Amino acid sequence: MAKRINALDPQLINQIAAGEVIERPASVVKELLENSLDAGSTRIDIDIEEGGKKLIRIRDNGHGIANEDLELALSRHATSKVRILDDLERISSLGFRGEALPSISSVSRMKITSQDEDSENAWSITGDGSQTGNELTPASHPQGTTIEVRDLFYNVPARRKFLRADKTEFNHIKDVIDKIALSRFGIDINLNHHGKKISNYRGGANADSEARRVAEVCGKPFVESAIKISFAAAGLNLEGWVAKPTFSRSQADLQYFFVNGRIVRDKLIVHAIRQAYKDVMYSGRHPAFVLYLQLPPELVDVNAHPTKHEVRFRESRLVHDFIFRAIHNSIADQRPAQEQPTHSVTEAAQYHSQQTKDAFGGDAVATDLVSAAGLASSPVSPNKYSSFSQSSMALPVREQMASYDRLTHGSADVEMSAENGSEEHPLGFALGQLHGIYILAQNKTGLILIDMHAAHERITYEKMKAEFESKAIVAQPLLVPISIAVSRKEANIVEESKEFFQNIGMEVDRMGTETIVVRQVPAYLYKADAVKLVKDILSDLIADGDSNRGREAINLVLATMACHGSVRAHRQLTIPEMNSLLRQMEQTERIEQCNHGRPTWTQLSMDDLDKLFLRGR
Ligand code: ADP
Ligand code: MG
Repeated sequence: MAKRINALDPQLINQIAAGEVIERPASVVKELLENSLDAGSTRIDIDIEEGGKKLIRIRDNGHGIANEDLELALSRHATSKVRILDDLERISSLGFRGEALPSISSVSRMKITSQDEDSENAWSITGDGSQTGNELTPASHPQGTTIEVRDLFYNVPARRKFLRADKTEFNHIKDVIDKIALSRFGIDINLNHHGKKISNYRGGANADSEARRVAEVCGKPFVESAIKISFAAAGLNLEGWVAKPTFSRSQADLQYFFVNGRIVRDKLIVHAIRQAYKDVMYSGRHPAFVLYLQLPPELVDVNAHPTKHEVRFRESRLVHDFIFRAIHNSIADQRPAQEQPTHSVTEAAQYHSQQTKDAFGGDAVATDLVSAAGLASSPVSPNKYSSFSQSSMALPVREQMASYDRLTHGSADVEMSAENGSEEHPLGFALGQLHGIYILAQNKTGLILIDMHAAHERITYEKMKAEFESKAIVAQPLLVPISIAVSRKEANIVEESKEFFQNIGMEVDRMGTETIVVRQVPAYLYKADAVKLVKDILSDLIADGDSNRGREAINLVLATMACHGSVRAHRQLTIPEMNSLLRQMEQTERIEQCNHGRPTWTQLSMDDLDKLFLRGR
């Protein structure tokens, strides 16, 4: 016999709906705060007890709820925010589903107290989500609304069991509040736990108070290292802060993205941002950002998910490209400028002590490529790190370097003194070299320290990308082709990727199941270790895993080649060579970071130095 169908009672319907949107105390806080924002509040006070399990109380000074609507607020699918289907097409409020209050009331002991402009006095209502037997009592309340939620999930033991320790639940609540605080700079928000003040955000809509709030939520170092961006095109507007790649994080924990004032976590957006950082961030690291995208509401569907964390863009390609371009360009624009805010002494020192090891550990092949890449020619100093034979040194590599010379010509020969030239030269002029690793230079502001390998790597990489674009990579046949033993998989890749290799100025052929032969390499890599170079490229291609060898694979490989083609630590440079490097840095996009996202230079201002020496002013 068939099982009989019966209609669910309203409380159960609401409890089922609660199952979707109310996962834990923080979800209640999110829904209630969104209602307060939709009501135009300028101040919100939040009191929490026992991580929100015992009490969540949110009081706002918004427009309130009319007396006669209080009952409706507690019924399902009742909302003041949409009326007809068309409204759904252009939602400007955070809520619109009319589900939150009835859902919450069905799984907790809830009380709403509200006073609107037109009512004589405030009223309170309590209800249990059954839509009947709600109790209305007169109350006293200034204009606005207070919602109290006690004993969340008292009647849903299965849910209650899954709640975590008070501290954990409270941290989730704090996260929600931080996001809301970032989404509306103009609003005062106070958060108390057991009567103790936890956060206390002051509203303000000028640049200073915005930066202050971002610092309160994301920490000062983020704001200090962030690039402020503002981009508009095709009806889209993107503003906010993106951290310089050197501020990357090991977790994706400092990423806030708002679409029309609503926090979202969206794959398309995350992808666009990752792409924008691709070139300048070590893989496995995560960018940090606080970004606000504004677009006409009809171009985005916020009704994609009950929690409204996800959105759908009508023109997803356009949005993706817009975000990518805005961030990519902002990062590329970072060049040394006279007024560059400088890293603090301690920050720089800490950073370098951490990074020096991995930057200079490992291979120390001196490739003498400063001159090959167009820096001032100087007598080739015998270099104890060189792994190249004299015969290969004798080859006319420089003659192949017309394009590099063109790019750098002029700057290399100019010798100016620090006194007269620093206006046009933000990075100033070289003083000397420190332990074969850093270049010291002086500019107007003070001392500049440059990691010469990191800087040169970025210069080389950007040039290589430009040359690749214009098909100007010059190949140089090896006098004696080199055969290399590789795995079968690597040999297969070589066989599949003949054209790819040609495009990057290399000729590599398969000789046997596990042997390949290198016949030519890009001219300025002539002196590099061809075996190591090819092996590195092959591991890039294996890591890329895509036999189409798209732009990503190409950039990956170009970055590897740039690394092989860049001046190594412990290579002695002359002062003109150093100055030439500085001039090239000033002209190079994305010069702030090497290809692995390490910083390339830092400044110690006279002030910083005075502080070090306790020089009073
Ligand atoms: P939604 O936000 O999707 O409309 P809710 O269940 O969250 O649904 O709220 C129902 C209605 O109650 C809202 O449409 C709004 O009219 C009213 N409301 C809820 N909270 C507040 C508040 N803090 N201030 C003013 N009105 C509120
Ligand atoms: Mg709501």
